[in-house]
Amino acid sequence: MSGPPARRSFADRLALARRLVARRPLRPDVHLADQLAAAGSEARALHDRMGAVLPALQPDRAWYQRIEADPSDDVRAYILAALLDCTTVCVHIRRGGPQPAFVQLPLRRVDCGRCVGTIRRPPPDEDDRCDVCGARGVVIFHPFAVRQGPALIAGECCPDCATVLGIRREAAS
Ligand SMILES: [Zn+2]
Ligand SMILES: [Zn+2]
Repeated sequence: MSGPPARRSFADRLALARRLVARRPLRPDVHLADQLAAAGSEARALHDRMGAVLPALQPDRAWYQRIEADPSDDVRAYILAALLDCTTVCVHIRRGGPQPAFVQLPLRRVDCGRCVGTIRRPPPDEDDRCDVCGARGVVIFHPFAVRQGPALIAGECCPDCATVLGIRREAAS
C-alpha cells in the first residue's frame, strides 16, 4: 500500500457536513463562544486586508466576497464539505485554538495569518478541478472568498457549486 491516503468523495464529505450542520449546538460553551468572538473580530480585520489583496493578485478575476452572518444550512454544508478536503493545517492553528484561519482550498491548506504569507502553488494537474465538489474538467470557474466565523475560505468552484453557494453571476459578455 503506497501513495497518498484515499480521499473521501465529495458525496461522503457533504453527507458528513450536513450531519454536522444539523447538529449545531443549541447552547455553545460560553468560554469557547468568547474565544471565537474574539478570534472573529481579529479575523475580520485580517480578512479585510486579505480581501483587498486577492483582487490585487488576480485583478482579471471577478472575486466574489461573501460575508454573511447567517448563511443557509446548504451553504454551510458545502463550505464545510470543502473544508473537510483540506489535508494540511499549520502548526499554529493546530496548537493555538481559535484564531483567524485562512483556508486556501486549491492548496487544501488551513493557515494562520503568518503562514498564509508563504506563497505556494496549487498542483499544476489540478487546474481544472472544482475546489468544492472536486469535479474535474471545469472550464468556467467562480472564484470566491467566504468568511465564516474566524475562517476565511478562498477557492474557485464550478458553476453548480456557485449556484448552491449563491455566488453565480451573470457572465459578462
Ligand atoms: Zn501558522
Ligand atoms: Zn463544484
